[in-house]
Parts: sequence; structure tokens; C-alpha cells
Amino acid sequence: MKKLKRLVFLVIFLFSNSISAQTKAPNIVLFLVDDMGWQDTSVPFAKEITDNNRKFRTPNMEKLAAKGVKFTSAYASSVCSPSRISLFTGSNAARHRVTNWTLHKNQKVDEKHPILNFPEWNVNGMSPEPGIEKTFHAQSLAQILKNAGYQTIHTGKAHFGAIGTPAENPINIGFQINIAGHAAGGPGSFLGEENYGNKIFNGEKSVWGVPGLDKYHGTQTYLTEALTIEALNALDKRDSNKPFFLYLSHYAVHVPIAKDKRFYQKYIDQGLGEKEATYAAMVEGMDKSLGDVMDYLQSNNLEENTIILFMSDNGGLSASNALGGEMHKHNKPLNSGKGSAYEGGIRVPMIVYWPGKSKPMSVCDQYVIVEDFFPTILEMAAVNTPKTPQIIDGKSFAIFISNPNKKHNSQRSLYWNFPNNWGPTGPGIGPSATIRKGNWKLIYYYSDQRKELFNLQEDIGELKDLAELNPKITNSLSKDLGNYLRKVNAQRPISKTSGNAIKWPDEN
Ligand code: CA
Repeated sequence: MKKLKRLVFLVIFLFSNSISAQTKAPNIVLFLVDDMGWQDTSVPFAKEITDNNRKFRTPNMEKLAAKGVKFTSAYASSVCSPSRISLFTGSNAARHRVTNWTLHKNQKVDEKHPILNFPEWNVNGMSPEPGIEKTFHAQSLAQILKNAGYQTIHTGKAHFGAIGTPAENPINIGFQINIAGHAAGGPGSFLGEENYGNKIFNGEKSVWGVPGLDKYHGTQTYLTEALTIEALNALDKRDSNKPFFLYLSHYAVHVPIAKDKRFYQKYIDQGLGEKEATYAAMVEGMDKSLGDVMDYLQSNNLEENTIILFMSDNGGLSASNALGGEMHKHNKPLNSGKGSAYEGGIRVPMIVYWPGKSKPMSVCDQYVIVEDFFPTILEMAAVNTPKTPQIIDGKSFAIFISNPNKKHNSQRSLYWNFPNNWGPTGPGIGPSATIRKGNWKLIYYYSDQRKELFNLQEDIGELKDLAELNPKITNSLSKDLGNYLRKVNAQRPISKTSGNAIKWPDEN
């Protein structure tokens, strides 16, 4: 009898433990890479393996893809800030109006244009407080997770708000720990030997100096490695009774392209030029960081309750006047790169591992966009979306993780609005608005009101403009895009000659 009682107790104990394990809130790692192109990896995101897949080495991305779901049609904005604001607010860039990159308070970064002026977009980024000029007032994903009991850790590039506004400091948008994040969207240097760009110019500190990593100054520690060590140190010190949200947002592989000596030489031996080898080594350094995080989770028994989301914030930099011709084609088969409305500017690598939900080696071809992360992560964390100041445009892709073959309920449209002038030039780079619906994609160029229509299933390289051949589809997508832009009160460039806003895409 005693034995039976003991057995019953044991069964109840094990059962209740397994229930609590099942209902325990998952930890979440959001691993964001800066400017990483769709093809800058040995994981094939296109239908066929490409030369780029053979050139880059990302064994840990391969490992993650083998455990989880590879999203082959994941989109972001074509430059940093719009994507990052969408990621943390759930709002589309046409709505939040942080449509170009931010840095100094009240200063537009748009390059001059011969025939267009640019609207008063939200040059100061997002803001957790209302009433801050030229900001998008919003409650961030990090703040909501913190309110729900998560420990929130920011590591790396922040780029949420301009210098002198609340969101320049990640602590003000809901992170409890901030490692190395501030207003700037790039590092002065990736090298510890160069103190990560912390220099004094005319008695003033450079705005590009990465903050908070002084103990690595003068060492040979590459920035990517320093961030990884610090992120894992923060996990070591966490309260293990609470779930964590780790946002590991690498400065890599953004410019300034700098040698990661740990990986450089083998790409030279492989026959790559100096610039290409430097870039490939930066990519592998980033991949090593992903591997270190996965190893940490495994050795600390966290693997089975930690979701990993991998994403890039825009396409790979390929503008000829930004990096030189050597790297111009690295997004192939996609056309162009960062800053472009073409796929090379907006289609990015994305992988999600959700223990217990994702099946190994899954592939999802359904298109998703960066603002979808907001509702998805809240759904994963089983946190109800509170009433937020901002309207959330993103749709959760959680269902695609357990069921990658599922289709969107209705044919969903994705929208981009870039009423700005980035600077560097290249195919599809310039002020534009874009829609994707099904396999069709329409780009409307504000400067000459030209439209291009592509069938992405047949022409992923966007080389064959079908707008004139298919007036019906062109008109219907123009209407859809025009309606959306008007609905969210999107901004448009202004004609220098007439002083009026450029027409909506369905007005001509
Ligand atoms: Ca970027």
C-alpha cells in the first residue's frame, strides 16, 4: 500500500511538472543582422543553390534551418530605420513615417533630388512618450514583453530614435539591459584595436563610436564577438524564474566592411578578392555568434524552451557607388540591393525555430513582412496585445511555423512606401511606393510616375517589366496601393515645379 501511494505521488509529481514545463512561457531570442542579403549565406533561400550559397559559409544558419522553418519570401524595408521601427511597433512604414534612416534630431538625411522635395517624415524615429516632435508615438514590443514579466535584454545596434530623443536609449522603450545600443545605425569601427570607433574629433566624441564596450578597447576582439560574449554574460546573470527576451541585434554586416581575422584568410585562399573576402568573413563571424548562442542554450538546458528568430533588416548593400563594383552582384538572382524597391533591397534571409511547434527542415514560401514579428512574438509568448497608441498592421505568422504549407486566408497585399532619397544609386533605388499581391509586384516611381509590374514566380530577378502588357493587373494593383497609402495617411514627395504632392499611384 505504501509503495502504491508513493507511486501515485510520483506520477502526480511528474505529471504536474510536465504541465508546468509545457505552460512555462518560452524564452525568445530575436537575432537580427544588419544589411545581410538574401544570398549572403550557405543556406539556399532560392529554389536552386546559387554560386553565392557556395561562396558564403554559415554552418550555424544551416543548423538552425535544419531544426526549424526557413522562410523564403520574408521582407523588410529597404533601409534600416523603417524596418526596425516596424519590427518594434508592428506598424507599416507608410503609417509610422520613419521612412528613411535617423540620427540627428530634426535633421533629414535625404539626398538632394533634381525635381523632388521630400516630406516632413519622422526624422526623430519612434517615441514611447507622446508629444515629441517628428516621432512615431508607440508602445514597443520590448515594453509589452517587460510588462508581461519578461526580462528584456538589448544587445548591439538599437537605432530606434534620434540623438536627444527618448528612444535613443533602448532602456526607454522597455529594455532592462542595454549593451552597446544608441542612436547611431552603424559602428565607427568593428575593431577592438580601434576602440569600436570611439574617437574624439575637434574635442567632440564621434557619434558612431559604439558605447559601453570599453573593456574590449585595445584588444583584438571583433565587435560581433564582444556583443556575443556580453549577451551571454547577461543571460548568465538573469533571474532564472522569469522568461527572457534577448534582442541580439548585430552591427554586422553593415559598413564599414572590416576584416574579421578569424575567418578572412580562407576566403582569400578560396580565390575571393579582398573586399569580398572581408565581407564573407564578417558574415561568418555573425554566424559564429548564432552558433555560440545555440550552444549556450543547449549547455544550459534552455534549448527546449527557447524560440529563435533569425532575420535581416534590409537587403545586402550592392549600390555601385557604396562599395565598389566587386560586390555589386552578390544578391543574385535578385536584382539590386539595399535601398532598392527590387527584391535585392527588401527580400531577406529569415529562419524560425520554435521548439515543439516547428518541424525540422521545414520551408515556408508564404510571404511575410517585418511588422509581422510584433504580433507573432506576442502570440508565441501568449501575451495579449494591449491597447497600444499605434495601429498594428502586422499579421502573425505563427500558424506558418507549425503548418508551413498553409496559405494566407485571403490574398494578402504587402506595402512599402519610400517617399525619400537614400543617396547611393542603382537599379530600383529612388523614391517609390510598392505593392506585392500574390505573385505580382508593382513599383510606382514618384519621380516620373512610371510603373513597373513583375511576376515574381516567373521572374524573381525583375528583369521583365509587364506593366504595359497587363494593364488590368497594373490598374488593380495601383488602386490597391493608392487606397492603402491614402488610408494610412502616407506621405509623398513634392514636385519642385508645382509645389504639390506627387499623384497617388492610381491617379494616372
Ligand atoms: Ca540595415
